[in-house]
Amino acid sequence: MASKFLCDCGYQVRTNSFEDHSIYSLITSNDIDAVKEPITENVLSNLWFNSQRMVECRGCGTLYLWDKEAKKYIAKKIVNG
Ligand SMILES: [Zn+2]
Repeated sequence: MASKFLCDCGYQVRTNSFEDHSIYSLITSNDIDAVKEPITENVLSNLWFNSQRMVECRGCGTLYLWDKEAKKYIAKKIVNG
């Protein structure tokens, strides 16, 4: 995957965790509920590797989710209410 892309606001969004810290790994409550004791390092690393990646544009705050099918970050519209 590319380590950066250009947001619509013009900000260069970096997606390499060594370069930037606005990268999130989202884990669903279903994934958490499925964890069995004992919680080992292997279990935690599997959760992390299978998590949904999200990156925030520091220029405008837009959130992008990694799309496994498209193999790129795609902006997701957040609907209030
Ligand atoms: Zn932006």
